[in-house]
Parts: sequence; structure tokens; C-alpha cells
Amino acid sequence: MGSSPKIGVYPGSFDPITNGHLDIVERARLLFDRLVVAVAVNSSKKCLFTVPERVELIQEVLINTPTVEVSTFSGLLVDFAYEIRATAIVRGIRAVTDFEYEYAIYQMNRDLNQDVDTVFLLAVREHSFLSSSIIKEVACYGRDVTDYAPEVVNRALLQKFGHLT
Ligand code: ADP
Repeated sequence: MGSSPKIGVYPGSFDPITNGHLDIVERARLLFDRLVVAVAVNSSKKCLFTVPERVELIQEVLINTPTVEVSTFSGLLVDFAYEIRATAIVRGIRAVTDFEYEYAIYQMNRDLNQDVDTVFLLAVREHSFLSSSIIKEVACYGRDVTDYAPEVVNRALLQKFGHLT
């Protein structure tokens, strides 16, 4: 019998997915046999895109990326991670501000379930100030964001803000 596959879960709002998220996906998938990108359904954040819209955008962008799949989860992340037998949660860290927030979540998740660890990947320099919020802010004024997100995301954003028919 071989050992069980290593499964990583990369959770987030992905509202919408950006090149920063994609860089984390590309790097994280090399660390696991399978990587599950998991869109949070009950996040307290107010989102621009619905969960199915976010899932569809991620699926379109990752269609040719082997060993990566997209899912949604509601409830506690550690419970979802445990359910799918994930070895570890993956989170990205951009600046010190991310670190404080992520460290608090890590501590709580560890208290909730010690069997699920968290792996942190640091943002590469070119994406270290990139966030979904910032590209939404730019796209809402009709500006192209293809430097920061895939074309399909750019189109979805401009459409959402009524800049495309
Ligand atoms: P959440 O609401 O859970 O923070 P996000 O979609 O904002 O969801 O982010 C998901 C994860 O991706 C977080 O760990 C976040 O720090 C990370 N992330 C977001 N943008 C970047 C980026 N530009 N580079 C690296 N990691 C990022």
C-alpha cells in the first residue's frame, strides 16, 4: 500500500481571483499531490461576485492546471480540511499586516484541530501589493486590469461594473 496522497487546501474569498492568488496556486501545487482551491461560502466579507461566479472564474483560469481542483466550503475551514483529508491549509502572505491576521487564524485553527497544519507562502515582489479589492477599485472606473488578473477576470469585472455590454 502506498502512503495517502498529500492534499493541500487553499481557501479564500477569491473575489475575484488575481495573479497573486494564481502565483500561490502554482507554487502550492508543487508541494502537494492535489490542491483544492476552496471558495468560502459564508465569509463575512461583502463580495462583488456570487460564489458560483467566483468558482466559474477560477475553473476557467485553472482549466489546464493539473492536480488543482476548485471547491466551495461553508462552516469552519478546519472541518472542511479534515473532511477532505487535507494535509495542510495553504495561505499567502503579502505584508506584515497579512501576517498578523494570518497568525491569529493559524492559532485558532490549530486550537480547533491539531491534525491540520498551515503552510504560508510569501507573495513574490511583483504581487506583494496586489489584492482583489484593489483591482475592483480600478475596474469599477472602467480601467483594464489585465496586468493584475487573467483576461477572463478582467472582462467579468468590466462587465459587472457596466463598462462592457
Ligand atoms: P480571504 O478573505 O480568506 O483573505 P482572499 O481571496 O483575500 O481571501 O485571499 C486568499 C489568500 O490568498 C490569503 O491567504 C491571502 O493572503 C492570499 N493572497 C491574496 N492576494 C495575494 C497576493 N497578491 N499574493 C500572495 N497571496 C495573496
